[in-house]
This record gives sequence, C-alpha cells and structure tokens, in this order.
Amino acid sequence: MSTAILRYPNACDFIDGKFSDSKGLASLDVVSPLDGEVISQVQLSGEVELNLAVVSAQKAFSSWSKWTIKDRVQIFFNYRELLKKHSKELAELIHHENGKTIEEAIAEVDKSIELTEFACSLPQLIQGEILEVSRGVECRIDRFPVGIVASIVPFNFPLMVPNWTLPNAIALGNCMILKPSEKVPLSSMWIARLLKESGLPDGVLSIVNGDSRIVEAICKHQGIAAVSFVGSTKVAKIVYSLATSNFKRALCLGGAKNHLLVLPDANPEMTASNVAASVTGCAGQRCMAASAMVAVGNVDHIIQKLCDEARKIIPGKNLGAVISKESKERIERYITEAEKAGAKILVDGRNYKVLGKEDGFYVGPTIIDLVTPDMKIASEEVFGPVVAIIRVNNMEEAMQIENRNPYGNAASVFTQNGAAARYVLDHAEAGMIGVNIGVPVPREPFSFGGWNESKFGVGDITGNSSIDLWTRLKKTTIKWNPESKTNWMS
Ligand code: NAD
Repeated sequence: MSTAILRYPNACDFIDGKFSDSKGLASLDVVSPLDGEVISQVQLSGEVELNLAVVSAQKAFSSWSKWTIKDRVQIFFNYRELLKKHSKELAELIHHENGKTIEEAIAEVDKSIELTEFACSLPQLIQGEILEVSRGVECRIDRFPVGIVASIVPFNFPLMVPNWTLPNAIALGNCMILKPSEKVPLSSMWIARLLKESGLPDGVLSIVNGDSRIVEAICKHQGIAAVSFVGSTKVAKIVYSLATSNFKRALCLGGAKNHLLVLPDANPEMTASNVAASVTGCAGQRCMAASAMVAVGNVDHIIQKLCDEARKIIPGKNLGAVISKESKERIERYITEAEKAGAKILVDGRNYKVLGKEDGFYVGPTIIDLVTPDMKIASEEVFGPVVAIIRVNNMEEAMQIENRNPYGNAASVFTQNGAAARYVLDHAEAGMIGVNIGVPVPREPFSFGGWNESKFGVGDITGNSSIDLWTRLKKTTIKWNPESKTNWMS
C-alpha cells in the first residue's frame, strides 16, 4: 500500500447523495496500466455499506418511481450536456485508470453520450397499450419499475458499461446500486458527481466499491430486485446462479471468443485494416474484439496485408496498455504455448517496453498463423491484442470451428459474396453478426447481447430490449359501462 500523494483522490462509495468516508473492509491500490504508477486507492466495502445504500435507495424509490418519465428524462438531458462539457477530463481519467489510448477514451465518452440519448428517448418508446377487448371493456398495459436494482461492471469500459444500464434503469423509475470494477473505480465517481449536478435526487444512484464479497452480498440482499452483470463467463455464471436462486431478475453478460471468417474474395485493404483494428483496439480488451481469424481457402495476400497493418500499430502510441502485469503475463503465456504447440508467430508483441514507461503493461500486436483447433489459444478468451489464424478449406469447416467455441458474443465475415455472408448470418451461433465489419457492436436503439456462454438470462442489456429488463408490466381490465350482463370474457 502506498503512502505517497497520489494523482487522484481515493475512490469511495457514493451513498445517499454523498461520497462516504467509511473505511470499508480494506483498501486496494489503483494502478495505472500506462506506467505502473499507483494513482489512487479504492475502499472495498462490505455488507454495512451495502445496507446503507439499499436503505437510501428504498427511501428515494417511493418518490422517484412516481415522477413521470417525461420529468425523469430531464435529468438525463442535463447529464448528456455535462458528459459533453467534461469529455476531455473524463477521457483523460479513463486513459489513466484503464490504459486505453486517449482517442479510445474519447470514443468511450461519445458512446456514453449516445447511450444517454437513448434513455432520453424512452418516453417515446414505452407508451402502454390499450384496446377495447369486448363492448365497453378495455384492457391496458402500463410499465412499472422493478424497484432497487444493481449493476455490476468490468474493468474494460469504466464509463461506457455503467452507462449501458444506469440511464435506462433510472429513467424507467428504478433506483440503482452500481458496483464498479475495483481495478477502475474512478470514472464511476464522475458519473455520480455529474448526475447529482444534473438534479438526480439523493439515493436514486448509489455506488458501492468492492470485490467478490460485495457482489455476493448484492446477489443475496433481500432489498434488491434485479441484478445486471457484465464481466467474465466464470463470474457471470456465479452471479446468475446466486442472484436467481435468491429470486432476483438477472441478466449476466460473460466473456467472448469472436471469430472473423475471411474469404479469398474479401477486399484485401479493407479486411486487413478492419481485422487489425478489431484485434488491437482497446489492446484487445473488448468483448467484441476479434480473437480468431478463420482463413477460408487461400487468403495469404490478406494475411500479408494484415501483418503490414499490425506493424503500424505501436504500443504507447496508437495501442494502449493491458490492465495489469498479470494480464500481460497471461497473454504472453498464451502466445508462447501456441508457439511451442507448433503455431507460427508472424508478428510478435511479447516483451514490449515503451520508452519512458518501462513499468507499463504493454503487449504489441500479435498475429499467430497455423493455429489448430486443439490449441488453447484457439478456444480460450485471451483478452489481449492477439489473433489466432485457423486455416480451413471451406465454409462448412469454418462454421464448425466458429460454432464449436462455447461463447457466442460476435462473429463476422469478410467477403464480397452475398450468399456466403447470408450463410454466416444463418448459421453462426452468435448474438451479434458483422458483414465486412470487425467490431459489429449494434448502435442504439439496437440492443447489445450475445448467445450461449456469453450471456445468461433473457433479453439484451441495452436498447429496446433493456426496457423489459428494467420494467414490470401491469395489466388492467376496466369496465365503466352500466351493462349488467356478464359472460366469461367480460
Ligand atoms: P471479471 O468477471 O473478473 O469482473 C467483473 C466484475 O465482477 C467486477 O466488478 C469484479 O469485482 C467482480 N468479480 C470478480 N470476481 C468475482 C467473483 N469471484 N465473484 C463475484 N464477483 C466477482 O471481469 P473483468 O476482468 O473485469 O472484465 C473482463 C471480462 O469481461 C472479459 O471476460 C470480457 O469478455 C468481459 N466483458 C463482457 C462484455 C459483454 O458484453 N459480454 C462486455 C465487457 C466485458
């Protein structure tokens, strides 16, 4: 633990509209991946802090849930303006705490603004339904909030992933408890600050920091009605089973192993630059990053260009750092094991040092050819700027490779042939498909979510689909006419 004056104030909980000075269970260093510097400390909270957050949320819910949605979204119009106003400071902070490049951090702020704009449009999207179902009798449906809900988030998008859940859940009338990643707890404090300045009443949003202990407490807490989770598959399974066995609504997004299928007729320049960007963007730490490239037939000319593109991507310049020393070591281990198993390293990013930032956690772009399906790197999530090339003879083989992997977040195909693209769209076991797109993230209002081991629960986490996650339907049948005759339908 460091005693020096740190670059950022300590990360602490936000409960009842105030940053708390509780000491929690312990505290952890927050380390910048850019240079290994300790930039802050985070207090790890426990049940005591969680209970305070739930009590404050319950108090706030009785009033917040009764605001009209048109009034509630006014807060998010203000929040959007504040995100824009502070985008430079926010991007700088994301850059420091997460290690991604400034340009990527700016894109993260922009995406958070887009997510907020979707929340602002919710009054137009959640009108109820009404129908005269028999003479003088009408049925109507209204949406009600679920109650106190929790959002547990990962390290890779410290601002954007909280904004996947928070604006929609809160605008729909819920009170939210956010649990940031203990590796990147600082951006969430900004969210709290900006929402308070936007006019959000105290208690509607609380932040509790911590590790697996607070996550477990959230999943078991009787006062919390729904839990959303974004992170690795291992933890998504733990959270989904714990939350649902405690009778909560849950949606848990897990890890990924996204395959890009490259066909010989693909546009070589566009494919090479898209694949390189997908593999290396955010240092490969995106659940939508390309991790395996399935070369269908002879695509050597495209692989050559991909290597040329990868060599233009320089750590510390246009490639950020990975989150920790352990991550760097784990990623490099995957590369070394693949090499030992007979794969060929075409571009090698191991042992990279950035001048002046020798203690940073950098891995250079890495392209590995001749990977076979039995190698670990072909099936496991690496979460670094690394792509494994698996060679196959035809589309059927390619699809078998894609569908054998247990995850199902995204898959893409690069081709000029519409029928081949359609084949992938029809057969790939993935929730998000790209055609000539390396990172097929659906933009608002389209919803985000994978299949299979990449998601547990019903529906998606953003866009239109999230409306069902954060609301309950109330069905009302009304008769005002004086008719006394009754039958089973009236
Ligand atoms: P992680 O699963 O280690 O942590 C996510 C959250 O769970 C954190 O808040 C952490 O404190 C908590 N946690 C960690 N271990 C826990 C445990 N044993 N019990 C209970 N809670 C625990 O994930 P990460 O390393 O922060 O993020 C990277 C992972 O997230 C990758 O697998 C990536 O694919 C995935 N991810 C998925 C999506 C998606 O949309 N599917 C989006 C972003 C990231």
